[in-house]
Amino acid sequence: MTATVIRGSRNIFKVQADDELIELRIKGKILRGCEGFYNPLAPGDSVEYEGRLITGLGLRKNRFARFNQKGQAPQILAANVDLVLCMTTPQSPPFRPRFIDRVIFEADFAKIPAAIICNKYDLSEGEGFDPDTEERLEDFIRIGIPVFRISAKTGLGMDDLQKMINGRISVLCGQSGVGKSTLVKRLIPDIEIKTAAINEKYSRGNHTTIQACLYELPDCETSIIDTPGIRRFVPERVPPENVIMYFREFYPLAGKCSFGLSCSHTEEPGCKILEAVHAGVIHQDRYESFLRIRDEMEGTGIYPDYD
Ligand code: GDP
Repeated sequence: MTATVIRGSRNIFKVQADDELIELRIKGKILRGCEGFYNPLAPGDSVEYEGRLITGLGLRKNRFARFNQKGQAPQILAANVDLVLCMTTPQSPPFRPRFIDRVIFEADFAKIPAAIICNKYDLSEGEGFDPDTEERLEDFIRIGIPVFRISAKTGLGMDDLQKMINGRISVLCGQSGVGKSTLVKRLIPDIEIKTAAINEKYSRGNHTTIQACLYELPDCETSIIDTPGIRRFVPERVPPENVIMYFREFYPLAGKCSFGLSCSHTEEPGCKILEAVHAGVIHQDRYESFLRIRDEMEGTGIYPDYD
């Protein structure tokens, strides 16, 4: 029999099997196909089971992960997703374009389309929009990432977002306080009734998501996987020379510099990346993110306060 993982941690998983939610454990210690990860299964995974035991991992068409520094291994946040939704706010908490760059890097690495949700636009109504934030958002749109300016509180801008997520499985990630829970509640108005038994974050009376959790929308065709608030998103480890592959507007220029693939893109004459930065084809902020992520992959740079 097969079931879909709703949530779970190391060994106990809540799964949706036909019409019922059940709790399963992994048979034995290790599930084949899950080696090397911090956690064996994530919401969205399909599993085979017998009785109350998970016996196998179903097809995992993709996974969205982050590097777990404590465990020194990639931690899967969601599996089999159609869309990565990176949630942020223009203010309160402050806009963090570097955080977005890291999430988009991971989405491009995982080959999952990404979109940005910028929440709390109701707060900007009286004061006007912050030009720096808007300029960055427009640049994300320019490089092919849809941006939804919304208010999860008032419903502003929700129609377009709803169209984007309809019929899809999306994973929602963002720093704590950006409004992820508020958005999930708006999408699923009776969520407290529906999820009270399976989601301790509400019964605890705060909004801290402890584990990633899959929620089905009332249309039964759309799902959203909410993930814990992440202060700093560390992408999965890739060889430093491959970082350019996951910066979508950089990649077409890879190998085209005068020094070819050996160009460091920092000072060489005839560097196409630097030329593109100077010409405004690559945003200066994206270039900075590229350098820092590459440094991190080399293990030479640690930017604890950089997100
Ligand atoms: P989470 O940590 O990402 O799940 O964030 P929450 O959904 O718990 O929201 C954090 C705070 O922001 C709460 O006080 C919400 O009421 C508030 N909030 C969420 N969305 C909006 C919004 O669109 N506008 C305003 N003004 N406040 C919001």
